[in-house]
Amino acid sequence: MKLFASLKPAAVLLLAGILIISAAGCGNDSKAPPSGTGTGDSNAPKTAADPAKTSGAAQPVQTDSPAKAGSPAAPSPGAADPAKPSTQPITSSPKPADTGGKGQAVQVAANPADKTVLVNKAYKLPDSYVPQDLVDPNVPFIFKEKTEKRKLRKEAAAALEKLFKAASDDKLPLSGVSAYRSHETQKTVYANYVKKDGEEAANKYSAKPGHSEHETGLAIDVAGISGKCAASDCFAATKEAKWLDENAAEFGFIIRYPKGKESITGYQYEPWHLRYVGTEMSKEIAKRGVTMEEYLGQAVPVNKQ
Ligand SMILES: [Zn+2]
Repeated sequence: MKLFASLKPAAVLLLAGILIISAAGCGNDSKAPPSGTGTGDSNAPKTAADPAKTSGAAQPVQTDSPAKAGSPAAPSPGAADPAKPSTQPITSSPKPADTGGKGQAVQVAANPADKTVLVNKAYKLPDSYVPQDLVDPNVPFIFKEKTEKRKLRKEAAAALEKLFKAASDDKLPLSGVSAYRSHETQKTVYANYVKKDGEEAANKYSAKPGHSEHETGLAIDVAGISGKCAASDCFAATKEAKWLDENAAEFGFIIRYPKGKESITGYQYEPWHLRYVGTEMSKEIAKRGVTMEEYLGQAVPVNKQ
């Protein structure tokens, strides 16, 4: 990159870090097209209502890829607090991306059945993984069909029932929008998006097979009982979203994609996407105000691919 030629090494590193962060945060990665059949959570295309919410300095400069910028392990701004990993989720120790400037190296989770398994754009589930203890949580959903979308793993389902009960007791009844998604479903949906829009475009709103948290059976999108603003940006302004933000950790859930952490999680703010991790981790994550990546010491910027 020519820009760096006249800069001192320290400045290059600093600038490279900023570039990585800004480049990583600019994708509308989890968003599904308006069809609502998507692998992402949103029913509507993302509106850039709050351009300032991406963490780090807003830099107009674009890089081709974080790997090219030369400092793939640059810590993100939120990573100052050293994480205390309580588990070892990764097969091999993470190493700097070495993919010739084309995206990040992908690691396969060694503990796919662990409730603390990390799944994001850099870490995927094994292709053959199927959760063995999926059940139907006894909570209302915004649809009537008996499909896999209702399912969660047993422990997460029990915790969800308690969470829904507590929300109802606080006069804010909730409904499920979408929970489990099989690897096969994700493969089909992703392939259809690639066919329709091309791979590059599809990657902006759909998770690749193996990379969706919904495949763990530990994630669920929720809405208020009316289903209004289900998996849409307007949910953020609801009382239910506020309640979830304040209370989910009590039941072992985290708001997996918090506001302002897009450069770390790889996803924009999704106040409706709950991930079950168990109360030990959820309470600590809520207390520290960190992401799951930061908590596990995996807070390298996530490539938008
Ligand atoms: Zn979701």
